[in-house]
Amino acid sequence: MVGKNPASESYLRIKSRYFSTLCLDSEVIRLPKNINECDLLNTINSLNTNSNVDGILVQLPLPGHIDADKVIESISVEKDVEGLSPGNVHAWAKAIPNLVPATALGVLALLKYYRISLEGKHAVIVGRSMIVGKPVLHLLLKENCTVTICHSRTKQLERHTRQADILIAAVGEAHLIKADMVKKGAIIVDVGVNFLDGKLVGDVDFKALKSKTSYISPVPGGSGPATVSMLAGNLLLAAELQKTGDNKKQKECLRHYYTNYAIVPDTNYC
Ligand code: NDP
Repeated sequence: MVGKNPASESYLRIKSRYFSTLCLDSEVIRLPKNINECDLLNTINSLNTNSNVDGILVQLPLPGHIDADKVIESISVEKDVEGLSPGNVHAWAKAIPNLVPATALGVLALLKYYRISLEGKHAVIVGRSMIVGKPVLHLLLKENCTVTICHSRTKQLERHTRQADILIAAVGEAHLIKADMVKKGAIIVDVGVNFLDGKLVGDVDFKALKSKTSYISPVPGGSGPATVSMLAGNLLLAAELQKTGDNKKQKECLRHYYTNYAIVPDTNYC
């Protein structure tokens, strides 16, 4: 964690608390906001080579003087529990099971947990970031959804959202998605985290949409907890991958096992 950021502090608290309930050790390394890039890279490098460390996560955003891509790229691919290093991005973009951004896995986990059939459904994702929109796009394509992705330059957003069988909102704008922007019976996963009049709310107007949708995830209590549990799953996978050394077959088996087990708890692969 570089510098101070109230939202990041709250994410860190939630992650640390959840990890300790699972008896997973976690440590927050706090670095000053004026740290230079070289010192930050050295810190990551020492964690990369520390065999007591199974997973590394750099809390984003980083201060402007630091190249976030360079920092993320410096994390060892098997310790990258956020799934954002180039090797992991390549894997999820090619639908190869591996470390995938936890928030995106959490979206899929919610859909799978409620046994929502995905094949052939039209999914509309609002938001195209590397931690949510893009990995969700790939996960849903793998499930044979037809996917539309919208962003800040999309014209007439509501024309797209109204066509969604499944709508994923990952923008960061309180109540951007209103009742008249969604068709009856749609399924909504709200990833957004915003404060409105001092209250935590999502990107979706939950109250107005609750009775119109067939499933809708609340904020708080939906995507957030799903993300944290998928992050713990990523840490377990990372730890197991590092234990197997060069055994490629075992690594492949572990990747299949963890990515499916985490999402569908009763799946038995190995
Ligand atoms: P980013 O800011 O990286 O991305 C936001 C995306 O929304 C961008 O693609 C942007 O478009 C798009 N966007 C912005 N305004 C509009 C608009 N008016 N209409 C349509 N699209 C728009 O955010 P993140 O992906 O990191 O996070 C998104 C939300 O999810 C935030 O609220 C964040 O706090 C929350 N979050 C929740 C987590 C959880 O566990 N539930 C975990 C991580 C994040 P463009 O690309 O054109 O700029």
